Amino acid sequence: MAAVKLEKICKSFTSGRPVLDSLSLEVAPGEIFFLLGPSGCGKSTLLRILAGLLEADSGKISFDGKDITSLPPEKRQAAMVFQNYALWPHLNVFENVAFGLRILGVKGETLRREVLAALDTVHLADMASRRVPSLSGGQQQRVALARALAVKPAVLLLDEPLSNLDARLRDTMRSEISRICRERQQTAIYVTHDRQEALSMADRMAVLKDGQISQMGTPRELYERPANCFCASFLGDINFFDGEISDGEIITSFGKFPLSGCNGKTRRAAIRPERIRFVSPDTPGAFAATVVSGIYGGDLTQWICETGGVKFQVNEMASPARKCGETVYLAFDRDYLLAMDE
Ligand code: ADP
Ligand code: MG
Repeated sequence: MAAVKLEKICKSFTSGRPVLDSLSLEVAPGEIFFLLGPSGCGKSTLLRILAGLLEADSGKISFDGKDITSLPPEKRQAAMVFQNYALWPHLNVFENVAFGLRILGVKGETLRREVLAALDTVHLADMASRRVPSLSGGQQQRVALARALAVKPAVLLLDEPLSNLDARLRDTMRSEISRICRERQQTAIYVTHDRQEALSMADRMAVLKDGQISQMGTPRELYERPANCFCASFLGDINFFDGEISDGEIITSFGKFPLSGCNGKTRRAAIRPERIRFVSPDTPGAFAATVVSGIYGGDLTQWICETGGVKFQVNEMASPARKCGETVYLAFDRDYLLAMDE
């Protein structure tokens, strides 16, 4: 399976700000790489450029070291799964999956075998003769995936493939797609605005902002050590707070805390809500706070607590009932108190 290299890809649609601004990245063979970013940040544009459906203004794309920048889509060995499935409604399931193989010149028994194998991978082998409009959304998405896999692409491109499915089906398909890609050691580039999808499925991921990569790394690196406030907030709920920063410490209205990794540019501190704990008053580092509100979610409750004029979100598993106005004691998990630059 191919390594993918993008070098300084630029793309503008109008004279305004570029959608992709000298974007470079490398994906290793067999890696499931996620591009995460808000709607309109250029994710689909980048995938379409990779697939050859759209031309970049400048930059270079290579698969396994081979420059494919000017190759037409059918010569790239890249297959794409679209958000809206893009199946042909007048063809049955078999013919939809056969489409790309026929273009590659596969015929007869080989064609039949390969189509059925692709359908088998997505557990739809018994639906080959069904018409597309008679399938559920989830089944149509599986056909789209089988169609992309059937041509044994060097690179599989997935454009928000699960965003039209309901939550439960989405969970099932997340693990299905992960399983299929890992079994085949399939190089995959998957774009989404759904952080949970990226965090749970990616080997590595990048956050896109203003046409550039804001941060790249493993899901754990990005979630636990975000490089800036945008990445920190985009990957999950987080509390920011201000204070006076000096000598590896932050002095706030509710106490003084060691802050590792701060430098001359550090402006504030941040901490994820699950890294703050309700503790007993005699716990070292504990500070008093008042419960402001809570959102009960069954397994997890999201509390808002206030101290020294600062409000914190605190996420607590298997939470006891707490009253608004109640005094509680909180403590940070210090290793997870983050120094933020902007
Ligand atoms: P995403 O997939 O991240 O939601 P897109 O790549 O679809 O974002 O779009 C990025 C930006 O480029 C958007 O502002 C969009 O309006 C613009 N855009 C995309 N395709 C075209 C096009 N064919 N012509 C003009 N503008 C486009
Ligand atoms: Mg898109």
